[in-house]
Amino acid sequence: MSDSALDLGFDPDELRQKYRTERDKRIRDDGNQQYQEVEGEFAHYVEDPYVGKEIKREPLTDVVEVAIIGGGFGGLLAGAKLREQGVKDIRMIEKGADFGGTWYWNRYPGAACDIESYVYLPLLEELDYMPKRKFSDGAEILAHSQAIGRHYNLYDNACFQTEVTEMHWDDESSMWTIHTNQGDRMKARFVAMSNGPLNRPKLPGIPGIETYKGHSFHTSRWDYGYTGGDSSGNLTGLEGKRVGVLGTGATAVQCVPHIGAAAKELYVFQRTPSSIDVRNDQPTDQEWVNSLEPGWHQHRMDNFNTLVSGGVTDEDLVNDGWTEIIRNLLLLIKIEKKKNSGLSKTELAEKMELADFQKMQQVRARADTVVNDSETAEALKPYYRQFCKRPCFHDEYLQSFNRSNVTLVDTQGQGVERITEKGVVANGKEYEIDCLVFATGFEVGTEYARRSGFEVYGRDGQSLTERWEDGVETLHGMHSRGFPNCFIMGGGAQTGFTANYPHALNEQAKHLSYIIRHALDGNYRVIEASEEAQAEWVETIVKLAHMGQRFYAECTPGYYNNEGRNEEKNAKNSQYGGNSMRFFELMENWRNTGDLKGLELT
Ligand code: NDP
Repeated sequence: MSDSALDLGFDPDELRQKYRTERDKRIRDDGNQQYQEVEGEFAHYVEDPYVGKEIKREPLTDVVEVAIIGGGFGGLLAGAKLREQGVKDIRMIEKGADFGGTWYWNRYPGAACDIESYVYLPLLEELDYMPKRKFSDGAEILAHSQAIGRHYNLYDNACFQTEVTEMHWDDESSMWTIHTNQGDRMKARFVAMSNGPLNRPKLPGIPGIETYKGHSFHTSRWDYGYTGGDSSGNLTGLEGKRVGVLGTGATAVQCVPHIGAAAKELYVFQRTPSSIDVRNDQPTDQEWVNSLEPGWHQHRMDNFNTLVSGGVTDEDLVNDGWTEIIRNLLLLIKIEKKKNSGLSKTELAEKMELADFQKMQQVRARADTVVNDSETAEALKPYYRQFCKRPCFHDEYLQSFNRSNVTLVDTQGQGVERITEKGVVANGKEYEIDCLVFATGFEVGTEYARRSGFEVYGRDGQSLTERWEDGVETLHGMHSRGFPNCFIMGGGAQTGFTANYPHALNEQAKHLSYIIRHALDGNYRVIEASEEAQAEWVETIVKLAHMGQRFYAECTPGYYNNEGRNEEKNAKNSQYGGNSMRFFELMENWRNTGDLKGLELT
């Protein structure tokens, strides 16, 4: 071991090699194709278990000014900002029976947000609402979504239980026709598509998955009829039952403690362990609330975002596990900068890697401290850089493995082998179970139309899938030439991405409402990205993508890095690589100039 390795308490070279070995074990040729699409005989996995009464109504053929597809935070924010701009004729279209999006669907026991509530929940000052705790649970977030709907009158004219099936642009009328599963052929001048980046559940493409005879469901369609209890736990229906959970991502981390507390036996099938850091939730401090000045919310969101985007600021208002990682990294670099202002980019990157190693050593040490059985503790240790996968923050997940009824079935990166009539085969052994819970996440790398559940046909009937066959092409991630008056929301590609997702949606909502207001004021019927502006933006995205790509190439596979597949179109399909704060600034400056540069208005 070198001197520096002795000082650090670990050998960086050994660790780097260990990360590579762990990654290589998991790389597979089939990438995103390894998953089973939820259709045909699997379609019941996406049925809505929360819907009360099914809506039966006459098909609509009317015309609205703005149709918003998706009633999650993206759609709600678009609606709110359009209302603030004085737009009256809005229709929200939502597959679920109410607003909420992610939080409508994900009601599994323990569902909660591990981004601080005071920055995660949007429109807090507008609604005069203060979350109850530092980290909100799913029920509170769902209630807040509905409160936004009421506050901005977005329930008026909304269509729930309505799934868009396709959309067609008509040049002559300069309008979109929206087809839905309710038989609608409604028309809209403008459409905002906020379908959610993680909205389509996916199943593992494991041999025999269709043969399982026990009970099963996906975490985003939790079957409380079977398990009993609610999102706060008390799963009395699992008493005496043998349950399997497939997957160990952020969702499994939150529901495993509740299943472990209720089931007779719980088997957690793991392919890759998550990074489980401290959560440290607390009730909201009323004294702090009283001290807040108007404008505090945007200020706090910006502060959090600066820190998690690698920016520098002395103030850390949120002060949690997310900002700690960045704080430590920056501190190290700052010290180095002071000592040696001539630090090269490569040297800086090395320091970053070192600080990351230190952070992950701390996370791995936590597994040893918390988990009694040393073999289980070892299997729960993540060997990759912190942001290769979504970091998790939880104070009961690791502890669950100390229960005598909970078993971790670690598959050494290979996943489970087979599903049989009776259960799951992993490492050559069959585990018989009464209920199998798929905590296997959502489609990410597949085509936009497959993920959103509908195709968009633009000018001359060209589909978005055809248009984007060789990679995404947009201006600002929001407009795509050939698809006029259509606004793409969410963090799909070519836009600013941040860990605090509603922050990015809020910025997009400001942007689209500004453009639509402008179009209405000027009586413009068609807005479209110009050929040159779009090409320029795509070039910017590709140019900035390389740094991120280098980082992700070294990562263990997952949805952050296209399951480890290095495809040519990855660069085009990336987010804006210059960090989200810079992107928001860019958009704000664009609006401030007032000339809608890059858009053609007719
Ligand atoms: P993920 O995609 O993160 O996790 C899916 C899990 O299934 C992974 O552990 C994956 O393993 C595993 N898996 C897939 N195929 C197999 C197989 N064949 N055998 C064994 N295991 C398999 O989905 P989640 O629903 O957990 O989370 C999705 C996202 O939702 C998160 O990343 C986060 O962004 C968000 N979320 C946020 C929360 C919050 O607090 N704000 C809470 C919950 C979710 P592998 O890693 O090896 O691919």
